[in-house]
Amino acid sequence: MLDAAFILAGLAVAAGLLFAGVARAPRKPRPDADRIDALLPQTQCGRCGYSACRPYAEAIVRGEADINQCPPGGDRGVRALAELLGRKPKPLNPKHGTAPGQPTVAWIDEAACIGCTRCIQVCPVDAILGAAKQMHTVIRTECTGCELCIEPCPVNCIHMRAAPEDACAQPPLNQNPLLATWRYGSQSRGRHARKADLARERYQHRTDRLAREHLERQQRQKRKKVMPRRDLDSIDKKTVIQAALTQARRRQAAMASKRKAAITTRSE
Ligand code: SF4
Ligand code: SF4
Ligand code: SF4
Repeated sequence: MLDAAFILAGLAVAAGLLFAGVARAPRKPRPDADRIDALLPQTQCGRCGYSACRPYAEAIVRGEADINQCPPGGDRGVRALAELLGRKPKPLNPKHGTAPGQPTVAWIDEAACIGCTRCIQVCPVDAILGAAKQMHTVIRTECTGCELCIEPCPVNCIHMRAAPEDACAQPPLNQNPLLATWRYGSQSRGRHARKADLARERYQHRTDRLAREHLERQQRQKRKKVMPRRDLDSIDKKTVIQAALTQARRRQAAMASKRKAAITTRSE
């Protein structure tokens, strides 16, 4: 009986110690897509394996992506994410590429451009201006240097050039203006952080526009299914022919009646 009491008391003490240990262990910060996204460079290049920065941030939250998959962010970006998430920093995963040496922006050789619009269609931040069969140009202050427009160009007239001082959302990694100084919620947000915010906004704006256009296309197709164009054409033709025949008959009847009236007058 005494033994059982000792065993129970021992178990209670052990459970208490365990509970106290758990309570004292430092809590890992809860991952949050907004805070992670705020540390990403917003190049929207997809090198992390996701379509853009926000989906990568969400994948980190879900535990599907690691913190070292963003080459434009470089090792400093990995460290910033590690600090935010209470994890150990690790080297950039070379599978996703290496950190760019200096910020670049796209430049279009306008004389060679054939106006096929392929580059506009892939630019994640709508930084290219142009129309079908017209010359295209890059708005260099909006270009993030993602390089996504290079490959689709059929005449290879898009080239990456060193970004002018004020023209790129990518942080120049050597000078470290964004990731080493800027943390979510801190006051020390530099010029590059504001440009990253702009790139995020433009990416979001484009995503919303594409979603809206997709919905409108679907609605148009739905309407076509309800009343196919062929039927519309045939209804229109039938209606027009019927109306023309009715009008011709009325005219004939009116002329016949006039003729009859004239003959009657003459015979009187
Ligand atoms: S900058 Fe490119 S690689 Fe980095 S998170 Fe954004 S889309 Fe992914
Ligand atoms: S213009 Fe700039 S932002 Fe747009 S696809 Fe080309 S490199 Fe990317
Ligand atoms: S993809 Fe090349 S050729 Fe086509 S519009 Fe863009 S720059 Fe001009």
